[in-house]
Amino acid sequence: MIERMNVYDLLAQKSGRTTLSDAQKRELRKNVIIDSVEFFYSRCKLALRLIKLFHLHTESNFFVFLVHPALRYYINHTLKLNYQSILDHYLVEIQQTLKHIGVTIDINAINDLARWSGINAEFSSWFDTDRRITILSGTLYFSHLFSRSFQPLFVSIDMDKKRSFFQKYFQRMFQRSVIGFVTNNHRRGLSPMFLIPEDSSLLDGMEMVIICHEMGHAYFNQYGINEWPFEPLPEDIRQKALSDEEVAADMFAIHTLFAYHRLYPDLRQILFGSCLFFLIFSWLEEAKILPRPIKHPKSDIRFRYLMSTIQRFDSEIYSQYEKYVIAAQTYWDSGQSNIKKEISAYRAKKEMYQPELDQVESFINHYFSCQSEHEEYPRR
Ligand SMILES: [Zn+2]
Repeated sequence: MIERMNVYDLLAQKSGRTTLSDAQKRELRKNVIIDSVEFFYSRCKLALRLIKLFHLHTESNFFVFLVHPALRYYINHTLKLNYQSILDHYLVEIQQTLKHIGVTIDINAINDLARWSGINAEFSSWFDTDRRITILSGTLYFSHLFSRSFQPLFVSIDMDKKRSFFQKYFQRMFQRSVIGFVTNNHRRGLSPMFLIPEDSSLLDGMEMVIICHEMGHAYFNQYGINEWPFEPLPEDIRQKALSDEEVAADMFAIHTLFAYHRLYPDLRQILFGSCLFFLIFSWLEEAKILPRPIKHPKSDIRFRYLMSTIQRFDSEIYSQYEKYVIAAQTYWDSGQSNIKKEISAYRAKKEMYQPELDQVESFINHYFSCQSEHEEYPRR
């Protein structure tokens, strides 16, 4: 007799994410559905047009014929992609850094939970028996795209060089990445970028600050919000941190990164990496492309207090970072109207297909529910 496996375990196994907790497996299923609908929209336009043209419903054979192969492709190829090994590596690096200042945080695991169409991380504790950080694939993916777009610019500033001909290319890559991020269209984001930077410090900073922020939540969960393991904060920021754990977690993150930077002073852009997401988000929030965050402080506030913390740490590196900000702003200023135009066109077009996309979503939902009852699972 074949042992029956529920759909959550099946998906975890199929995606190679076998060490997820049960709660995470449920989240994984949700993420997989969101991603596979986005995947269908960006890759299967013709199929979508046919569904609309013939008013196909989910039970129609032709509908199944159009949607099923895309879903199979998604499950057999895209779902397996993850950043798990990178996350495991970062966790070790961060734990070792904290050990240097006598801090240990109990964390059972850090897990990549799919969803390329999102940037988010979460710390959760199951009655202190299972303490985990969950991170969406999109977080690392977009860190990668943004750091690749900006790094050549920052390197040219570090080297006091005039901007090269390639700068225009990277500026365009930045625009594509922003549009790809906001519209969940990975075909746009996945534009070819052939130049691989030698120094990964900007990327490390962008990725590590998010993990360190969650480590901050884990720390306060374990030791309480009044425990502060680093040098004392200025009074105004200390008060903010005491009343808002998000601010405290940001401060924890930047102090951890600073401790890391002290161990590896060659990583010149790592501290700026901690601010870059917030700088980009502040532009997008200001332009009303992204809504104001509900749970976290506004991105321009986060950007400013992180930068002023860097200024306190190291005024020399801070003045270099100020130049980065001015230069980065030119990417946004010159691309802004084009970005807005493309995003609203994309959203309007997608809106037209919303009823069909809802059907695709309910088909996928139903498909996974059936998988839990029958052992049958799509094979290559
Ligand atoms: Zn947080």
